[in-house]
Amino acid sequence: MGEAASKAVILLGPPGAGKGTQATRLAQRFGYRKLSTGDVLRDHVARGTPLGREVAPIMERGDLVPDELILSLIREELTPPSDVVFDGFPRTVPQAVALDQLLKEKELRLLAVFSIEVPLEELLRRLRGRQEGRADDEEEVIRTRMQVYREKTQPLIDYYQARNLLVPIDGVGDPEEIFARIAHALGEV
Ligand code: AMP
Repeated sequence: MGEAASKAVILLGPPGAGKGTQATRLAQRFGYRKLSTGDVLRDHVARGTPLGREVAPIMERGDLVPDELILSLIREELTPPSDVVFDGFPRTVPQAVALDQLLKEKELRLLAVFSIEVPLEELLRRLRGRQEGRADDEEEVIRTRMQVYREKTQPLIDYYQARNLLVPIDGVGDPEEIFARIAHALGEV
């Protein structure tokens, strides 16, 4: 098989880890296209599309949108030749398995999965203080999102570790510092 044309990286981490911020920086600095399933879904909700109406109550509770919906979104949005940084996707093992297949089809090479690590106390502090006024950042919802993360998303750490793709990143510090860690690690892969 020849060298894949385009590159992909994944930002993995719990709610409040700063994935969105770092994905934006990767996009700005290295020309990656940021693909955030959360942003795409929120846009549907804001526009009141049929998909938006379907997912709004799920997102408000802090639950995950069904894999099939997410995967059809990703199929639509994933348009090489651009390099891509995934923010908030994959979030379940079935999504990761489907992504493997999709990357093959689209000839994208997964360079690394950056796992942004932040202690729980710090995450809770950040989520409670989030300025954006996100409806899914209320206390009860925060608890649900953390539990969903532990049950559904944390297994991806083992999944990518087993494939030698996992790169842990210390997610404590200011965003510029954390970005420097990611940029450095990206230079090594
Ligand atoms: P985020 O902005 O990534 O925290 O996503 C906000 C919400 O969108 C999540 O709490 C989920 O309800 C939904 N969501 C985003 N990405 C996914 C995904 N890959 N799988 C399932 N649900 C998702």
